[in-house]
Amino acid sequence: MILASYVEEIIAKVQAENPGETEFHNTVKEVLTSIAPVLEKNPKYQQAAILERIVEPERVVMFRVPWTDDAGKVHVNKGYRVQFNSAIGPYKGGLRLHPSVNLSIIKFLGFEQVFKNSLTTLPIGGGKGGSNFDPKGKSDAEIMRFCQSFMTELCRHIGLNTDVPAGDIGVGGREIGYLYGQYKRIRNAYDAGVLTGKGLNYGGSLARTEATGYGLLYFTKLMLADAGLDYKDKTVVISGSGNVATYAIEKAQEFGAKVVACSDSNGYVYDKDGIDLALVKEIKEVRRGRIKEYVDAKPSAEYHEGCKGIWTIPCDIALPCATQQELDLESAKALVANGVKAVGEGANMPSTLDAIEYLQNNNVLFAPAKAANAGGVAVSALEMAQNSMRYSWTFEEVDNKLKNIMADIYENSKRCAKEYGHEGDLLVGCNIAGFLKVADAMLAQGVC
Ligand code: NAP
Repeated sequence: MILASYVEEIIAKVQAENPGETEFHNTVKEVLTSIAPVLEKNPKYQQAAILERIVEPERVVMFRVPWTDDAGKVHVNKGYRVQFNSAIGPYKGGLRLHPSVNLSIIKFLGFEQVFKNSLTTLPIGGGKGGSNFDPKGKSDAEIMRFCQSFMTELCRHIGLNTDVPAGDIGVGGREIGYLYGQYKRIRNAYDAGVLTGKGLNYGGSLARTEATGYGLLYFTKLMLADAGLDYKDKTVVISGSGNVATYAIEKAQEFGAKVVACSDSNGYVYDKDGIDLALVKEIKEVRRGRIKEYVDAKPSAEYHEGCKGIWTIPCDIALPCATQQELDLESAKALVANGVKAVGEGANMPSTLDAIEYLQNNNVLFAPAKAANAGGVAVSALEMAQNSMRYSWTFEEVDNKLKNIMADIYENSKRCAKEYGHEGDLLVGCNIAGFLKVADAMLAQGVC
């Protein structure tokens, strides 16, 4: 009872001291509530004020990003880097370019990243950054000028052993290239390991592009197997058509599933014959077009405006891979009514808290983002390792390491859930597993 009120007190303090930061409040609530059993067993964490410290970023950097468009007009965006926790390694986490980006979203993503990175078993702390810049409709030259301006400030705060950013929504290989070029120019050092997600010809890792989507499939396959299920011949719905969704579709198809839908921020396509992935890649990766163009090439498929309707498509397995809070209670109810057996989160926090509760109460297997989508950052850490060695592993070597890491994350999450009285609840299990490593490192390092 005393303990529950202690956790509630910290949650209330975070809400009061960070007004309006709803996304950040939600993730703090989710994590702290689920680690309550750990605090019960180990008073040392409360005594050392680990919770009070872990919810406070070590550093928040906010800056102006001025850039000039092709017509010569000057624009100003907001830039952010939140260096959340470095107890187990340099800050590590992506950069997001999207008009919705604000401090709350970057803090929520940074906080999640702390536990996710801990779960990977690799020595990386947690951070996140980005800007409210909208890359949609911008020319290559505009993207380059924005990235150069962003890095001109960011380069003061990052480094091989300090903070290693990567991609996220709106930041792919092209943007990482421009960011790295500017970093190298200002710092006059070929610090390849300062950014991950680089091109293969200048220090990138094979299988990094595929890692988050593939990792999600490796993780959920293990979860399904424990319940006597498999991807083979199952109907799968995957939201998004970006990096995570594309490679989730690829691996799901390789596992014998039929993926019948995917989406972008305007709407979704339903193809009862199974999504043609080569066509999706052509539209999104080559043409940088809209998913509705899919039906131009395949008139037998359907296009629907709006994103939420995708969850009303009957399926066995649903993999939200687009963005945060895209699967709400109403969507969860539709999925359950249509007999969904499992939900695996590829995006960060794609399900609302009430949706997760509803899915779990209705015996739907649930793979939480922090664990299930950790494959991307895990391979980013492998990219850093290869950069340090000045050596590259083959695709198969990296893919095998990824498989082993996802299996370790799954087993650790499962074990922690059981050990702390929540058998079968991977959300509680992964939060506990991620927390323990960071909290113990913080204890060992004293009050800092
Ligand atoms: P991405 O390549 O930029 O793709 C994002 C996809 O989501 C696009 O199809 C986008 O559509 C769609 N989308 C964006 N906002 C949306 C909205 N409000 N409603 C519906 N769809 C929306 O990004 P990504 O790297 O795949 O990342 C997707 C998610 O996975 C994010 O939550 C990210 O944080 C998470 N994640 C990514 C990685 C990674 O390695 N990339 C690792 C871990 C977690 P448009 O084309 O219309 O923008």
